[in-house]
Amino acid sequence: MSDGRCAIKSRVRELRRYSLRPERARIKLNQNESPWDVPLEVKEESLRRIALRAWSRYPDFVPREFHERLAAFAAWRPDGILAGNGSNELIQALLMVTVGRGKRVMINEPTFALYRQIATILEGEVISVPLTPKLNYDVEALRKQVQLTQPEVIIICSPNNPTGCVIDHADLVSLLEMTRGLVVVDEAYFEFAEQTAVTLLHKYPNLIVLRTFSKAMAMAGLRIGYLMAAPELVSEIGKAILPGNLDIVSQTAAEVAIEFYESKLRSRIELTISERERLYVELKAIPGLVPVASRANFMVVRSVIGPQQVFDELLNRDILVRDVSSYPMLKDYFRITVGKPEENDEVIKALREIFNSKPAAPAGLKQ
Ligand code: PMP
Repeated sequence: MSDGRCAIKSRVRELRRYSLRPERARIKLNQNESPWDVPLEVKEESLRRIALRAWSRYPDFVPREFHERLAAFAAWRPDGILAGNGSNELIQALLMVTVGRGKRVMINEPTFALYRQIATILEGEVISVPLTPKLNYDVEALRKQVQLTQPEVIIICSPNNPTGCVIDHADLVSLLEMTRGLVVVDEAYFEFAEQTAVTLLHKYPNLIVLRTFSKAMAMAGLRIGYLMAAPELVSEIGKAILPGNLDIVSQTAAEVAIEFYESKLRSRIELTISERERLYVELKAIPGLVPVASRANFMVVRSVIGPQQVFDELLNRDILVRDVSSYPMLKDYFRITVGKPEENDEVIKALREIFNSKPAAPAGLKQ
């Protein structure tokens, strides 16, 4: 009797599931989440509103009011918005409606692994353009590949996970101008870079911008993302979305988070940015570590000690980071999410111990 696996696409059988090691630790810096939970006021107001809604009823097919709130928040039009069960779902939906056998998806690598995973499952051809040796976007190489292969979809993750580089505005425009396909800019971390492609949506009907509530908005557990594009594109991508994809709990909480953004969330983003810069300077002062400057809420760090060993030694101290050494170009690197100031202090201290280095002398003083 067949075990049924022959029914599975051979490309899928060759893949490994997108997943993460199951370790837990007191200081969790492995998934680029917000180190602070959603403020209590946001939780309480969300729960109050959720209690008033009828749980017996399906969510609206098109959550028009939520789209209007997102549109006002992001400065785009409501009919050009599609909310999803995490931005992951929207990546999947947009690839479902564009990719099939013989279709080309161009990505930079290293980048977020899900793009390649889904494009491969859909039997597309992944065209991978390496970052520069300094881990920046290689725009000349991208332009060359666009000319050569005219991919149906180009995905630019900006800031890029896991390296934290951003694409320059003019470079993005040049790609939008020269391609016959779609350009997707994944802005999961845009708040930390203070840079967005949304302003280009007015001019470029082939641009798609993706956002999430999982990072700066501190709502990874509720699974909320949104996509922005020209209304004509949104209505095509919407065909691959399952009805009721976004439950009323998540939708309500996201609306409340938007209302509290200025008063409760924005200052945390500023603190994360300044902590990122502090972490960079402190890690750079540790012999054996070379952090890579990042515009996101994380950074990759090159290490003379094997990343697996650094991971284990940090875990022994109850600190969880991400071993990214299996990613292309990142054999000697681990990735660290920026935590709360006191968590970052502990990480710096732990890394100094592991690398046997003394604290740097304060500026202006001799050691
Ligand atoms: N895009 C990027 C670049 C990410 O790093 C992630 C999560 N790690 C996502 C999208 C998915 O986010 P979510 O589904 O939680 O919105």
